[in-house]
Amino acid sequence: MTPGDPRQDRYSRQIRYQPIGQAGQQRLVDACVTIVGCGALGSFQAGALARAGIGHLRIIDRDYVEWSNLQRQWLFDESDAGDSLPKAAAAARKISAINSLVEVEPLVCDLTSSNAEEVLAGADLLLDGTDNFDTRFLLNDWAVREGVPWIYGAAVGSYGLTMSMIPGVTACLQCVYPEPPAGAQPTCETVGVLGPITSLIASLQVAEAMKILCGAAPSAVMTTVDVWSGAIRQIARPERDPQCPACALGQFKYLNRHDRSPVSLCGRNAVQIHETARPLNLKELALRLAPLGEVRANEFALRFEDPPFQLMVFPDGRVIVRGTQDIGVARSVYARYLGG
Ligand SMILES: [Zn+2]
Repeated sequence: MTPGDPRQDRYSRQIRYQPIGQAGQQRLVDACVTIVGCGALGSFQAGALARAGIGHLRIIDRDYVEWSNLQRQWLFDESDAGDSLPKAAAAARKISAINSLVEVEPLVCDLTSSNAEEVLAGADLLLDGTDNFDTRFLLNDWAVREGVPWIYGAAVGSYGLTMSMIPGVTACLQCVYPEPPAGAQPTCETVGVLGPITSLIASLQVAEAMKILCGAAPSAVMTTVDVWSGAIRQIARPERDPQCPACALGQFKYLNRHDRSPVSLCGRNAVQIHETARPLNLKELALRLAPLGEVRANEFALRFEDPPFQLMVFPDGRVIVRGTQDIGVARSVYARYLGG
């Protein structure tokens, strides 16, 4: 950035912070960061990184804004929930109002092994805003293979944790957790979640991202916080596992897996059905479904009510069937209206 560039003033307080300086700010402006999941963590990360002047932000999210999100998902407002806007699209709209210098690329899709290569390509750093280990292991496989740093983060109830994963330098997710945790895990739907823990963890993730992008060393600890008890713990980062399938042996089973089945969204009374290579024309579908029940559609999604079920249909062929946790019932509701 040359003197006189309007960005000099906008980012002046950050540039004045010596460990960033002109050189660090230029690296932030030149960076491409991908946020995987734009819920409580991801929406905070997106807003904070846009303000910090990250040049290119890619936001991947498969869901749409609901009223129950507004308590903790900072970027969204009542009109986003009222219009059931996809989170990625709503976030992009907000970011362009916060900082129009940032190039935003919203991707309304589910990150899977089939599209990981395409949607993650070109990222200098990934931020974890997901709510499930399936996606985190996939993200870890890609990041390790490509040598791209990523920042793990999770929050539920009043508790959260974060750790930086730098391929070739630190332990990777599979060094820490050889297998995804078994059994039912507490989720934001089952045990609730407080807004402050999500923004705190997301803030720590953003600070780590800025450090790494500026060329500074990542934090050497895993940080855990409970905002209700006030306990903050910092644990030495686990060592790398010399037998780790991902970062030691180069076996990327999550990336190479192509058997994705319908995903039950646990605790949400909803099932997601993902039919690949079956793009849908939402306009045509809206006309077809209109005589059968209430339909609301925009360019990003179509919502169809058939009590006790509700279908949320996306242009890539993905459907979320609400009102059941039974995959068979969801498939039958899907087939009833969409065929297949
Ligand atoms: Zn590893």
